[in-house]
Amino acid sequence: MSEPFVIDRQQAAVLDTVRRFNAEVVAPVAAELDARADPEESFSWEIVEKADEFGLRTMTLSEDWGGGGADCVTTAMIIEELARADIGISVVMAQTLKIAQILQWALTREQQEKFIPIFRDDPRGVLAIGISEPDTGSNYLIRQDVPFHTKAEKVDGGWRINGMKRFISNGNRAGVYLLFAQTAADKSLFDGSTCFVIDRGLEGFTIGRVHDKMGERLANNAELIFKNCFVPDGQVVGEVGNGFQVLVDFFPASNAYAAASVLGAATAAYERSLEWCRNRVQGGKPLIEHDGIRTQLAEMHMLLDVARTYVRKATWMADHRETAWDPALSAFPKVFASHAAWKIVTWAAELHGGSGYMKETGIEKLVRDVAAFLHSDGVNRTLLLKAAQMIF
Ligand SMILES: Cc1cc2nc3c(=O)[nH]c(=O)nc-3n(C[C@H](O)[C@H](O)[C@H](O)COP(=O)(O)OP(=O)(O)OC[C@H]3O[C@@H](n4cnc5c(N)ncnc54)[C@H](O)[C@@H]3O)c2cc1C
Repeated sequence: MSEPFVIDRQQAAVLDTVRRFNAEVVAPVAAELDARADPEESFSWEIVEKADEFGLRTMTLSEDWGGGGADCVTTAMIIEELARADIGISVVMAQTLKIAQILQWALTREQQEKFIPIFRDDPRGVLAIGISEPDTGSNYLIRQDVPFHTKAEKVDGGWRINGMKRFISNGNRAGVYLLFAQTAADKSLFDGSTCFVIDRGLEGFTIGRVHDKMGERLANNAELIFKNCFVPDGQVVGEVGNGFQVLVDFFPASNAYAAASVLGAATAAYERSLEWCRNRVQGGKPLIEHDGIRTQLAEMHMLLDVARTYVRKATWMADHRETAWDPALSAFPKVFASHAAWKIVTWAAELHGGSGYMKETGIEKLVRDVAAFLHSDGVNRTLLLKAAQMIF
């Protein structure tokens, strides 16, 4: 059940590495980190440094940049496997792996030479993308005629940025960021915003609140605050006013990576349920021998298999965009996977009886973790609206 169906020897070797990383580094500490009250205390630099030692942190940098050269299919496999040990670690790495891909696709050679080494050479190097704002959430996913409230005003030699972003994964931890700001006041964010690449040390850029979250606690989310923050012209990514194009190039793989994270957590819930139902005896026989329970486990298996197939399709197409791409795949895989995962974790809780509600089985953590993806990377309803806009 747990083996991905598209697999070559290199992918198998990478997945073995992830499994070793999960067993040696993440699994022994995940529950304890999750239980800490302060969200900043739930984040572990030791885990990031170990991910670096295992070669996972830079897996999507090309071999020329000293990385593992993972394509989108392999990256999704890695993200899914990481989430089987902890969804927060999967998210810390998913953001890093996917933004490293964008840095290679969207930055000029000169920009890459400045920013990729900052990320690559720091064993604690993680990446973040700042789009969402208090008043601009779903608006960037569905075509709304509204601007970003974070503004970049043209000044001599660069741009002066004022405003804030919120909910940003790795926001308080990253060394390099992609940031979206409005550069044309009279236009919408679709035709009047610009993407910038920035590093942590910029004057006028500070971190606000670190959000206290229900689950996915081993990842941090934070506010990014910009007060008269000067960004040189050389840090504009793509064209001024056309920042949205960077997002359009980013969505295909991004949505499937989010699906992979939630799928990994749901797989963990299924596997624990299977084991539980084999061992727990009620009505004179193991739970798995009761037909109602067998069929529910079979349905969980089927939902996972379909969600994984969808992720494989979307990531394969993202790797072959020149020959095949369906824009609705930048919305559907995460919606399907998170709907399926939500069913699976709540069923898993039920199959565990009262024990499912107790922290000792770890199922309640999975319920809290999976809930993140009903909202993260776009609320499901919003993504269905986005897909409808594309299809109809
Ligand atoms: C765990 C987590 C991690 C995140 N990481 C990042 C990150 O790294 N970077 C980043 O930029 N953002 C990030 N986000 C933000 C996330 O993308 C937004 O929360 C999401 O897009 C929804 O925006 P919102 O919260 O403002 O909700 P809103 O847009 O206010 O939506 C509220 C409700 O209204 C519905 N709705 C909105 N517009 C419409 C409409 N036109 N028609 C019908 N219904 C509508 C929505 O579907 C939803 O049900 C993260 C969020 C979470 C929870």
